[in-house]
Amino acid sequence: MRRFDLILPSSVDDCLRVLAERGPEAKLVAGGTDLLPQLKNGLLKPACVVDLSGVAPLRRLERTDGRGLRIGPAVTARALERDPGVRSDYLALAESAALIGSVQVRNLATVGGNLCNAAPSADMVPPLLALDAEVVVAGPRGHRRVPLASFFVGVRRTVLAPDELLLDIVVPGPGPGSGGSYLRHTPRRELDIAVVGVAAQLTLSDGACAKARIALAAVAPTPLRATAAEQALEGQPVTAEQIERAAALAADAARPISDQRGSAEFRRHLVRVLTRRTLATALERARG
Ligand SMILES: Cc1cc2nc3c(=O)[nH]c(=O)nc-3n(C[C@H](O)[C@H](O)[C@H](O)COP(=O)(O)OP(=O)(O)OC[C@H]3O[C@@H](n4cnc5c(N)ncnc54)[C@H](O)[C@@H]3O)c2cc1C
Repeated sequence: MRRFDLILPSSVDDCLRVLAERGPEAKLVAGGTDLLPQLKNGLLKPACVVDLSGVAPLRRLERTDGRGLRIGPAVTARALERDPGVRSDYLALAESAALIGSVQVRNLATVGGNLCNAAPSADMVPPLLALDAEVVVAGPRGHRRVPLASFFVGVRRTVLAPDELLLDIVVPGPGPGSGGSYLRHTPRRELDIAVVGVAAQLTLSDGACAKARIALAAVAPTPLRATAAEQALEGQPVTAEQIERAAALAADAARPISDQRGSAEFRRHLVRVLTRRTLATALERARG
């Protein structure tokens, strides 16, 4: 591993000052579970590493008005998985956090790291997309709010500039009559990454689907929403036939590649199966 300067800021302003001076040659580190392997295998060679672990505001997890959620980027997968509020109102997010690595990995792995590493297979992204999350980005020009759906621009690429950091993740409250689910397929039961991941969130009103969200992982360069499938569900009762139609439309939305972990055809099939299952579970949970 190449030598680097390690900087330990204690506030967001300190971080931004370092990034303003050394942004292009710096890398932020939260839990390090993505970054350290990339340093060790020489994929990244930053001259300076900025450790976020001493910046307390980045670890805040709190309810906001209207029962929304504000998640600091340095909140760990383990904290999300165990938080009673997240489990009761944002179960798909808790489910995705609980699937990451092992307990040891989840005690380090952060939600901000999962988003900013921008792997197409990142597990915590689809539930956050299905919950219409936004992110707050801090930089030298102040703060800007970006819908999570616009945050990813390619494999391992986000809209973050070298002098910016992810400050917050803002999740609106799903409201009454809402239920969500996240499922993924991995060849191994543990310590594997998703070949396909699907999150669904359904909100019911007067027996019909008021809002549907379906988000897919590992089937395109960036995580994506299956909007045609969502629209096919909205405005009518959710029946088995509607779920089947939405699952087929979600499979059409996927743009998978073939690689050693699965062919494009297999991945499209998985999208159909997992969409069907997550919608059925989300429906059951929305009905209470
Ligand atoms: C054994 C093992 C198993 C794994 N299993 C899974 C899995 O099942 N599913 C899955 O999705 N992932 C998995 N991962 C990947 C990894 O654990 C997750 O992506 C994790 O959430 C990354 O968080 P981190 O805090 O460790 O990120 P870090 O490694 O600290 O950072 C990752 C990237 O994000 C950037 N970053 C971090 N915080 C910020 C911020 N606030 N602002 C701007 N940039 C920031 C860093 O600069 C870096 O580029 C696994 C990793 C390992 C080692």
